[in-house]
Amino acid sequence: AKADGNSALCFYARDFTRGSSRRLQLESALCQALEAGQLLLHYQPKFSLEDGALAGAEVLLRWQHPTLGAVSPAEFIPIAEETGLILPIGAWVLRQSCRQLAGWQRRGLRMVPLAVNLSARQFALPTLAGDIRAMLREAGVGPRWLQLELTESLLVRQPEAASRTLEQLRAAGIQLALDDFGTGYSSLNYLRRFPITQLKIDQSFVRELLHDKDSSTIAVAIINLAHGLGMQVVAEGVETMAQLEFLRRHDCDQVQGYLSGRPQPAAQFERLLAGPQLP
Ligand code: C2E
Ligand code: CA
Ligand code: CA
Ligand code: CA
Repeated sequence: AKADGNSALCFYARDFTRGSSRRLQLESALCQALEAGQLLLHYQPKFSLEDGALAGAEVLLRWQHPTLGAVSPAEFIPIAEETGLILPIGAWVLRQSCRQLAGWQRRGLRMVPLAVNLSARQFALPTLAGDIRAMLREAGVGPRWLQLELTESLLVRQPEAASRTLEQLRAAGIQLALDDFGTGYSSLNYLRRFPITQLKIDQSFVRELLHDKDSSTIAVAIINLAHGLGMQVVAEGVETMAQLEFLRRHDCDQVQGYLSGRPQPAAQFERLLAGPQLP
C-alpha cells in the first residue's frame, strides 16, 4: 500500500531533477531510498548513572546513497517531513525496531527498550496508536520495550488530538519521552496534561554544562522538575567525563552521548547487550 503514495510523489519529483538543486536531487533520491534498501538503523546506547548498566538505545535513521554517500538525517528528515515521505519511512523505522527487538528476544539476548523518534506528520495520524500496537503484536514484543521520542512543538500544535493519541499510547503500555527538552515552546502546563514518562535534556544545555552557569542551572532544574513529576530524565550529547560526573552528582538518571557510545549498527550494539558498563 505504501508504494502507491510513493510513486505518485516520486514521479512528480523526478521531472524537476535534471540540473536541479541538491534539495531537489535529495527529494527525488529519497523517494527510492526505502525500496532500494538504502535506509538503515543505528542504535545509540543510553546508560543508567545509578549502576552504570545499559538502559536502552535510541534508534537513529541512516541513509547511504550509492552516489550521494551518507546523507545526514538533519538534512533529509526535514525533506521527508515536507514531502510526506516521512509516513512510509517512519512506519518502516517503527516496524524494523519492533523486528529488531523480536530478534534479540528470540536469541535470548538481554532486552533493553528502544526509543524511536516520531515526526509531527506521523503523530497527526489518528491510527498511530493502533498501528503501533499492531506492529508490536505482529513482532511478538511487549509494549514496555518501545519508547517514542516526541518534541514539544508536536504537542503544542494540536494539544487536543495530541492528548488523545498520547493517552492511547500510554494505555497501550508504551513509554513517552519528551525530546530536546528546554528548547521548544515549553509550557510547563503540558507536562501536567500529557502522560510523559521521560524528559531528555537537550544537548545544547549539556554542552555548556561546565562553562555557563545558566545552562547548568537549567539542566539541574529539569532534573528536579522531572523527578518531582515522577518522570525519568536523560541527558543527551554527553561528550566528557566532567559532564557525566556533574550529571551523576545532580541525580540525572541516564546519559547518552559520544562519551559512552556513538550511534552504531545493530551487530555492534548487540555486544553491549552482553555486558560492559559505564566507567
Ligand atoms: P535527535 O532526536 O535530537 O537525536 C540526537 C542526535 O544527536 C543524533 O543526531 C545523534 O547522533 C546526535 N548525538 C548523539 N550523541 C551526541 C554527542 O555526544 N555529541 C553530538 N554533537 N551529537 C550527538 P543524528 O543521528 O544526526 O539525528 C539528527 C536528528 O534527526 C535527530 O535528532 C532526530 O530529530 C532526527 N531523526 C533521526 N532519526 C530519525 C527517525 O527515525 N525519525 C525521525 N522522525 N527523526 C529522526
Ligand atoms: Ca531523539
Ligand atoms: Ca534530542
Ligand atoms: Ca535535536
